[in-house]
Amino acid sequence: MSKPSVAIMGLGIMGSGMARRLLSANFSLAVYNRKREKCLPFSAAGAFVATTPREAASRSQIILGMVADDTASQNVWLGEAGALAGASPNSVLIESSTLSVGWIQELAAKAAERGCQFLDAPVTGTKPHAASGELLFLVGGSAEALDIARPVFSVLGRDAIHFGPSGSGALMKLINNFLCGVQVASFAEALSLIEAGGLDRNKAMSILTEGAPGSGIVKRMAERIAASDFTPNFALRWMAKDLLYAISGASGKGVSLPIATAALSEFQQAIAAGYGDEDFSAVSKSPARRTTL
Ligand code: NAP
Repeated sequence: MSKPSVAIMGLGIMGSGMARRLLSANFSLAVYNRKREKCLPFSAAGAFVATTPREAASRSQIILGMVADDTASQNVWLGEAGALAGASPNSVLIESSTLSVGWIQELAAKAAERGCQFLDAPVTGTKPHAASGELLFLVGGSAEALDIARPVFSVLGRDAIHFGPSGSGALMKLINNFLCGVQVASFAEALSLIEAGGLDRNKAMSILTEGAPGSGIVKRMAERIAASDFTPNFALRWMAKDLLYAISGASGKGVSLPIATAALSEFQQAIAAGYGDEDFSAVSKSPARRTTL
């Protein structure tokens, strides 16, 4: 079976790794990025560089968005130059950015009006998993669309799990990430107390990471902090965005997330302190937890 042509919109940390994977698997690829200079290495590697999302979409059977947030997603899909305007009916549109469930449902309706199939397929995994094709796709939408998209998902990820109708992948991703955000914010609080209490930081961190609190995310964060390496795999401001979308989405379903709300406040204070573009583990550097005695 011939490989479908693919467009990737968004060549940030995640989208660039995914685009490289598709090129190395010999997919015909069109790329679009708001800041055009990020497209240059892909042009050299054989991708078509589109000047608008519409142009990228018009050449592709599978059109995938991997951008920052709801506003960025609206910018690439909507309007005269947007991907929806260029997508041919029967193409499969995929949103892999982590977005609010409300916007995903709106986008799914717009895709259906145009006669296109739509999947929300956000991912777990981070920069190295995008680069090595080991993402996990959390999918909402029709099983038929998922079958068409599988050849792409199988190059980009280790699996694609179908949760149900449009929005269910997005909801699962927000649940996954708020639970990560809460753990990371709590770990940052624990570190503040370790330091204020005069405990040996390395010994204390290994008790926590090797004991019951040592979840995958806590272990990963401890490694970054121990190495004082806050170059972003996942930018702190996007974790704040995910917590916000989880809290507002939950509230729309009559569920309150008070612990996620407290974690969001920690991330917001870290952004205010200038750490928004660093890795989300930089929440550990936030001055938020200092109190006067
Ligand atoms: P990133 O490196 O910050 O890249 C963001 C991308 O969005 C860039 O292509 C950027 O374009 C584009 N963008 C931002 N604002 C825009 C706007 N207003 N209009 C159009 N394009 C805009 O982010 P990332 O880490 O790749 O994350 C992408 C998505 O995946 C996010 O939703 C994130 O939550 C999710 N995610 C990330 C990770 C991770 O570990 N990094 C893991 C899972 C899911 P420019 O280059 O022009 O700024």
